[in-house]
Amino acid sequence: MSTAPIIGHYINGQIHDSAERFSDVFNPATGAVQARVALAELKTVDEAVAAAQAAFPAWADQSSLRRARVMFKFKELLDQHHDELAAIICREHGKVFSDAKGEVVRGIEIVEFACGAPSLLKSDYSDNIGGGIDNWNLRQPLGVCAGVTPFNFPVMVPLWMIPMALVTGNCFILKPSERDPSASLLMAQLLKQAGLPDGVFNVVQGDKVAVDALLQHKGIEAISFVGSTPIAEYIHQQGTAHGKRVQALGGAKNHMIVMPDADLDQAADALIGAAYGSAGERCMAISIAVVVGDVGQKLIDKLLPRIDALKVGNGMNADSDMGPLVTAVHKAKVEGYIAQGVQEGAKLIVDGRNFTVPGAEQGFFVGATLFDEVTPEMTIYKEEIFGPVLGIVHVPDFASAVELINAHEFGNGVSCFTSDGGIARAFARNIKVGMVGINVPIPVPMAWHSFGGWKRSLFGDHHAYGEEGLRFYSRYKSVMQRWPDSIAKGAEFSMPTAK
Ligand code: NAD
Repeated sequence: MSTAPIIGHYINGQIHDSAERFSDVFNPATGAVQARVALAELKTVDEAVAAAQAAFPAWADQSSLRRARVMFKFKELLDQHHDELAAIICREHGKVFSDAKGEVVRGIEIVEFACGAPSLLKSDYSDNIGGGIDNWNLRQPLGVCAGVTPFNFPVMVPLWMIPMALVTGNCFILKPSERDPSASLLMAQLLKQAGLPDGVFNVVQGDKVAVDALLQHKGIEAISFVGSTPIAEYIHQQGTAHGKRVQALGGAKNHMIVMPDADLDQAADALIGAAYGSAGERCMAISIAVVVGDVGQKLIDKLLPRIDALKVGNGMNADSDMGPLVTAVHKAKVEGYIAQGVQEGAKLIVDGRNFTVPGAEQGFFVGATLFDEVTPEMTIYKEEIFGPVLGIVHVPDFASAVELINAHEFGNGVSCFTSDGGIARAFARNIKVGMVGINVPIPVPMAWHSFGGWKRSLFGDHHAYGEEGLRFYSRYKSVMQRWPDSIAKGAEFSMPTAK
């Protein structure tokens, strides 16, 4: 019988930690099991939906200002617990502490945006469209919404959803990744402390069983998903088949073009951070450098000493640049891709396999890996590896670089390093990718813009957070009004038109 602590569900303001099934939660830096997370069955999902449905009428009826005030308080509490949240991320995900702190900041920014709900939800009003009639629109909550989130941002991605869903008047059920589930419970506690009524926010821990129960539940109006593309596609198909509104953000293969006129030191620094930061476990990580003309060898010469200087270790050590991968299974998968790259003929310049950190030999570490001469037919070009593996593809000119990227099935993020304004403008206009950076390697939009990819990186109509998020979490209603003393006498039988 395991003595590891249990991470439970949070339903109607209470922790529930009994379950029939559990999953191990590892510390990726040591390889040790540090906790067990409860895995929900249908019954637990039913309880969470019932709690949320019961809380919905009163919460939806609150003024948007009162809902925003809960967010103000929540933001203050997130600030106070910033280090604690970052340490939880570090322990369960493995990323370095400074990176985890940055993740929390990017989440807090969405909460700050949501504090503006009263203004953001202001509607359009047309006075006297004719015959004493006025027409305006409302944005009303959907009801109970659910969010299913990935392991790689256990605070930020849930915060892409929670504040947006709550300030628009919905109740919310979060199903976090079972690989790093603890941050969800601290956020639940902080929301309660911020004055959120019980039942408005709930956490159901679990795996496919819980997700399927949410997808099929008649009491759920909308599902937001962030994760890998096959699951995103499944969620979109199943959710829409069950009559739900769905936004499902999927995987990525992000390219960075390096033009001959780029500052190569800047480009190399950008690539090191964007390819190996968070051990490559970011949906906006750059995993392919597209080198134009004769840039290739010059760039490699700049990358090698930087790779050599990378410090890989436990994320809680202040001097680590890169931590371990999330699980042993994921480490084996990434190493499998490296082997496949070699087999398919890519030139392995730096091999991160068999990498150990002294004193942490059981940690799930893979060292920074660099491939040259990658071609579009190779598996390591086509598929998302989600590890510290950077591939270099050579193209003769800018047009070939754009053509290459536009032909890829994913379209999440992209970047171009150049000093030519005309190239930059053509790039931004012609590239078929949702988030574009010009001399910016990881162009994650700010809270008041919206996040999302194109092609097989997003299924559904709405990007996450910002105004797109507000639209996703609210239903549009048009109201037309006339009062009796202005009603013309007699019935009208023809189509009403503005007079
Ligand atoms: P994942 O798809 O394995 O899991 C995501 C969520 O889906 C988890 O909560 C998990 O429990 C659940 N899930 C897993 N298998 C399922 C199944 N068969 N049926 C139903 N639910 C299932 O993704 P991950 O490994 O946690 O995260 C990494 C992936 O997420 C990468 O592909 C990355 O690109 C992607 N991601 C995308 C974005 C984006 O904004 N586009 C952001 C972050 C991560």
